[in-house]
Amino acid sequence: METLILKVDRSSEGYDKLDKAARIIKEGGLVAFPTETVYGLGGDAKNPRSCKKIYRAKGRPSDNPLIVHIAEFSQLEDIVEEVPVSARELAKEFWPGPLTMILKKNKVIPRQTTGGLDTIAIRMPDDEIARELILRSECLIAAPSANVSGKPSPTIAEHVYKDLSGRIEAVIDGGQAIIGLESTIIDLTSDIPTILRPGAITKEMLERVIGRVDIDASLIGEGEDIRPKAPGMKYKHYAPKAELTIVEGNISKVVVYVNSKVIANKDRGLVTGVIASSENVTRYSAEVVKTIGSSEDEEELAHNLYSILREFDETNVSEIYSESFKGDGISKALMNRLLKAAGHKVVNADKEAITRIIFAGKNGSSRSPMAAYILKSMDATKDYEILSRGILVQFPEPLNPKVEAVLLSNGIEVGDFHAVELTDNDINSSTIIFTMEESHRDKIIGKLEKANEENTFVLPAYVGDELDILNPYGGGLQLYGLCFEALKDTLNKLVNILNQER
Ligand code: AMP
Ligand code: MG
Repeated sequence: METLILKVDRSSEGYDKLDKAARIIKEGGLVAFPTETVYGLGGDAKNPRSCKKIYRAKGRPSDNPLIVHIAEFSQLEDIVEEVPVSARELAKEFWPGPLTMILKKNKVIPRQTTGGLDTIAIRMPDDEIARELILRSECLIAAPSANVSGKPSPTIAEHVYKDLSGRIEAVIDGGQAIIGLESTIIDLTSDIPTILRPGAITKEMLERVIGRVDIDASLIGEGEDIRPKAPGMKYKHYAPKAELTIVEGNISKVVVYVNSKVIANKDRGLVTGVIASSENVTRYSAEVVKTIGSSEDEEELAHNLYSILREFDETNVSEIYSESFKGDGISKALMNRLLKAAGHKVVNADKEAITRIIFAGKNGSSRSPMAAYILKSMDATKDYEILSRGILVQFPEPLNPKVEAVLLSNGIEVGDFHAVELTDNDINSSTIIFTMEESHRDKIIGKLEKANEENTFVLPAYVGDELDILNPYGGGLQLYGLCFEALKDTLNKLVNILNQER
């Protein structure tokens, strides 16, 4: 089957191509169409064969019911046992719009449409193309999201085409879905109206109209044994190909945390992706950084999520880190989807923040203490514990006298010093270790259990320098002076990275 693309110009009246689409639906075929939430895959809700085709095209389990889309309130009265007052009030306030209500069904809609349930999910979309399509087809349109099961819902026609071309008769291209996340689902058949899926219409908005509203336990708790009431919520949800982790906490610490992961990945030849707010996008050093929108604009963030997740699958990233987006509006729905995509993997950067910096060298009496003393002398490093260590220290040697002389001549006082060997006891979850040379890094990782590619780095590489730190060993004072300058330069860069408005 060849899938037609019917491009509809919203600015011109008439929507002439919709008649063709309407005919396809009336004749039992499938048409994907835009709504304000996401693109839907529509078929005649009263035709069991149409519904079967929907399940087949999506690869969707047949016990996962479809939402029936209507264009006029009277169509609701035709298909449910009764219309409770709460449904009337909610419809008055939020229809047409991104709210789906679950009510008791009568016999007009076949059970194939509702996945065997005696309840039915109904929504009146706000999108003009969707409403026109329903009216012109003279059908009620059963429509789940127009993606292959297990993929993010489509927010543009291209997403639909990519997933379903060859499997459906047509897709109407009406531009971007404005909201970009699926509708809020509220169950009005329980004693207390219950949200089964969060969306653009929030709990608070609903409560303002009908009083107390609960949230389905499975949406808040993570207990696997709690069976979600919306059958669709029990299925494995979309997860990007790369492992996705949400990083929450103070944004500066989030940036530092993520960038340290980027460097660790780079060392292993792996590419990292980041989902960033537009305010912070330039602060990440990852190879692929995608802006999801301004953190001040919850709607924009929600609108872009699914596109971004799909875009990442086209890249070669092996890990993705996302900022966390908290807010009172649609952010709740956004975080619900993001958490699912991440398999609930969340780290708190505040707790992971680096507090101890160790410079480690061969015997720990020359370049590593020089780096430690320089860093300690800098502004804005007083919150760090800064240490120097040697990889192998047989005698507690004093500071190399030339290092001491260079430090002193630069106004850095040196106290009591003797070299100390680096051990596992020095390393905890907030420790970062820097070496001057790659061979030292490798030795440390090989020798110590707690040292690894996530916490042990070559200093110049970490700050993005191409050159190594000069080794002055055996040279004169002047060479030690040059080493000092090089280190100072590199450490300034380190402070910028570590200390972003700490
Ligand atoms: P989608 O069409 O992909 O947005 O998915 C529709 C969602 O509505 C799925 O999570 C379904 O499980 C849910 N749903 C549809 N009908 C019912 C119903 N009668 N009772 C509970 N949940 C429903
Ligand atoms: Mg869906």
